[in-house]
Amino acid sequence: MTDVHPKDDPSRFVSERAHNIPPSGIRRFFDLLAGMEGVISLGVGEPDFVTPEPIRAAAVASLGRGETHYTSNWGLLELREAVAENLERLYGVRYDPRSEILITVGVSQGLDLAVRATTNPGDQVLCPEPSYVAYLPAVALAGGEFIAIPTRAPDGFKPRPAEVERRVTGKACSLLLGYPNNPTGATLTRAEMEALADIARRHDLLVISDEIYARLTYAGEHACAAALPGMRERTVLLGGFSKAFAMTGWRVGYACAPAPIAEAMMKVHQYTIMSAPTAGQMAAIEALRRGEPQVEEGRLAYDQRRRLIVTGLREIGLVCPEPHGAFYAFPSIASTGMTSEQFAEALLKEAGVAVVPGSAFGPAGEGHVRCCYAVSPEEIEEALRRMGRFMDKHGNTGR
Ligand code: PLP
Repeated sequence: MTDVHPKDDPSRFVSERAHNIPPSGIRRFFDLLAGMEGVISLGVGEPDFVTPEPIRAAAVASLGRGETHYTSNWGLLELREAVAENLERLYGVRYDPRSEILITVGVSQGLDLAVRATTNPGDQVLCPEPSYVAYLPAVALAGGEFIAIPTRAPDGFKPRPAEVERRVTGKACSLLLGYPNNPTGATLTRAEMEALADIARRHDLLVISDEIYARLTYAGEHACAAALPGMRERTVLLGGFSKAFAMTGWRVGYACAPAPIAEAMMKVHQYTIMSAPTAGQMAAIEALRRGEPQVEEGRLAYDQRRRLIVTGLREIGLVCPEPHGAFYAFPSIASTGMTSEQFAEALLKEAGVAVVPGSAFGPAGEGHVRCCYAVSPEEIEEALRRMGRFMDKHGNTGR
């Protein structure tokens, strides 16, 4: 690499893998946003709620007892047992807390571990797109090849099984799924998940299922990939606390997988992370044991906001597929004739509303923007007023 950089340019030390991953399309907007006043941000994908008090208190009490040390590499057994109980109660899927559950630093780390522990150089990881911004880089950093399966608004951004199957080659090793979906809000029914599971079984693919938004499902039941017949043995189930319990800053999540896969993930984890934050793990135990009422409270609040934003976006002339999960609306901005980047930048500068361009989630996201509705109803209403004025000015042909 020295030949492409001037001799004293520190970039010459940056590896090709790190160099080649694209910077997050979201970060550019945060950079633009910083320093602007009065902006309403529908940009960041995190709950506006503070972590419920009993959960915070559990961590404070743990710190008061001086519990400031590493935990087992696997995470606290008590927490792994609580995760196992929770998954069995919700989806009927059973994991051994001693050998099949690993406590991670959020689903972010769980995803990285799952991909790194199961992808050989050149292996292909298939993933419906638009997709969460970390999926492609996780695969690229593991030396794998990310194979996007485009999804479309008229299909509710659900993958067509035939299009998935068409992309399976001899190099395919896994199918990476994220439902409920960030950024589209799409969910899969049990039958739709079953159709993908069928492809995984027939082509002997592993399924890496990011179910971080499982508890934020507004229509029908969440379809847990590992709970389908024959799937537990070929699935890595990733779950977390950030969204349902408003715990983004605690950095705790979990990965469940058959023992040999969990063991492989644990090996990478023990050398790179050691163990997830201890206070965060104590908070997570409390969340699973007594946080259920707050999960439901949060879900109902988001559902109200979801209706508010979808109705509002449609009223100002933006075609918006109905999101059934997570906390994102993904309206089309095609009627403005702008690219999603141009739209997001102009909306921020002219109207003081931050959204994320759909292109940040892969080419299939172009023509849309992601609006996170995990903000107060008042902010949603004000954002919609501002967006309405913006749409009046920018060739709104949809009304
Ligand atoms: N997966 C998806 C689909 C997400 O949207 C996010 C956060 O936005 C994460 C994983 C990361 O979650 P965590 O905070 O548990 O690392």
